[in-house]
Amino acid sequence: MLKAAILKPDLILGDTVLALTPEILQQYQLKGLVLDIDETLVPLRQKEPSEELREWMEPVRKVASIWLASNNLSVNRISSIAQSLDLPYILGARKPSRRKLRSAITAMNLPVERVAMVGDHLFTDILAGNRLGMFTILVEPMVGQDISPSAHPIRDFEIWLSQLLGVSLKPSQQKEKSRNESPNPGGQNWHFQSNH
Ligand SMILES: [Mg+2]
Repeated sequence: MLKAAILKPDLILGDTVLALTPEILQQYQLKGLVLDIDETLVPLRQKEPSEELREWMEPVRKVASIWLASNNLSVNRISSIAQSLDLPYILGARKPSRRKLRSAITAMNLPVERVAMVGDHLFTDILAGNRLGMFTILVEPMVGQDISPSAHPIRDFEIWLSQLLGVSLKPSQQKEKSRNESPNPGGQNWHFQSNH
């Protein structure tokens, strides 16, 4: 029987990976990141990382070792993205399987709890990271301009099922802070649709 806690991210960013700052990594004492690729870093219909993503990565890579891990089997797509970012990568990672992710953590030579698995899917990225004892960070999907931010039936289903299993998907600390500053803090439910 699946224990619901294994699906719960340690941090729900409530935004795309671009909101993951060196300060947040420091706050959680993170020294390594394993990043999902499709829709975490690069929208599915895009072949290359955006300039914005490259700019985001520069200060982050100074404070953390980074590996990429994708379930995608396309050698062309994944290797060209990884090479353009000059990062080591795993393709066909088979998340939530632990085996290939473990090899990335071993290569980083860091304690597993100092490495965050960062991704947009609960049942692959977050489940894999939690199974390994990594810190887990759920991000909003990065979608192409031609796709509606709400067009994520699998992700929506995962969230629905997780909540049915009793997983609490409350906003993260960062998100709560920003909500408290806003005139209308809104409800406590986690909003999984991006507003932009
Ligand atoms: Mg993804």
